[in-house]
Amino acid sequence: MNKLLTGKTAMITGAGRGIGKQIALTFAQHGADLIVTDLKETESSIELMKEIENLGVKGLFLAYDVSKLDQTEAAVKQAMEAFGKIDVLVNNAGITRDTLLMRMTETDWDMVMNVNVKSIFNHTKAIQSIMLKQRFGSIINMGSIVGITGNAGQINYSASKAAIIGLSKSVARELGSRNIRCNVIAPGFIETEMTHVLPQEVKDAYMKTISLRRTGKPTDIANTAVFLASDLSDYMTGQVLVCDGGM
Ligand code: NAP
Repeated sequence: MNKLLTGKTAMITGAGRGIGKQIALTFAQHGADLIVTDLKETESSIELMKEIENLGVKGLFLAYDVSKLDQTEAAVKQAMEAFGKIDVLVNNAGITRDTLLMRMTETDWDMVMNVNVKSIFNHTKAIQSIMLKQRFGSIINMGSIVGITGNAGQINYSASKAAIIGLSKSVARELGSRNIRCNVIAPGFIETEMTHVLPQEVKDAYMKTISLRRTGKPTDIANTAVFLASDLSDYMTGQVLVCDGGM
């Protein structure tokens, strides 16, 4: 395989399972050293770190809450002590608290905004001085197709994913002159634990809207992330790459 990330160090949030885990694995297959982060260590993240080690790259696992700035700063400090640089940041951690507006609580709103959006503020703020000194960086933020289209039952989630687009385009403008890129991936329906819990009729309704007539796999998003992390995309910033099978 032609390795696209050899020599790069990447930090990926919410990578103990789902899309983030697959991004970590695919990055490792492409030769990147990895800082894998998640809320807590689990069997799944322990297995991931073993797989990373078996692929012959360096890995560090850090458990913390991405919505807390102090915890994020401490994690970035630990990562720098271990690796001395961070070339790629993938802000992947995200949650849903789906319900109709009439039933949505203030907590549902605040939790989703804090984990999905504030976490990206936290990590970009904590890492920007490192990337500025390096004169290099690729920041990849995980949006969603519903941040563009909206979705009934997801006003908190779709607002958070729309906010990520504005945030990312602004970061791209602010840091571009120092060779720091910032792009968004907007996945459609990807098979993970996040979508596993949806009722079958909701899944069936989604399927009818997908041109390619299949749900996405975490590898579909991981391959898009490899492209954005690698030098193949080094003239792209402030963009939203939709990866949704043509929804
Ligand atoms: P997932 O399987 O639920 O994984 C999300 C990960 O984020 C979990 O490991 C979770 O940890 C972690 N996390 C949650 N809150 C956290 C916090 N406060 N601090 C640190 N880590 C935290 O979700 P996924 O489907 O892989 O989704 C990954 C990203 O893609 C999300 O941003 C999501 O919005 C986006 N996305 C997914 C889809 C889809 O169809 N699956 C579509 C569009 C966009 P725990 O295991 O401890 O909860």
